[in-house]
Amino acid sequence: MEKFNCKKCNQEISEEFNYCPYCGEPLSELAKQKEAIRLQNAGLLKLQELSNSTHDPAVQKAIKELLKF
Ligand SMILES: [Zn+2]
Repeated sequence: MEKFNCKKCNQEISEEFNYCPYCGEPLSELAKQKEAIRLQNAGLLKLQELSNSTHDPAVQKAIKELLKF
């Protein structure tokens, strides 16, 4: 099993990990993509909250469009 050092915390990690077990840094391409999606979802969730807290139909429509993809 290959080992390498985490770019973030510099701990030695075996390459089987998708995330650094020490600092949680995403390591594999898949984990990086998942992390990007997670961050995007967090942003979308905020938008959804905003949509729920407004009664302006124009704003609600704009947010719905954004949440489509
Ligand atoms: Zn790390």
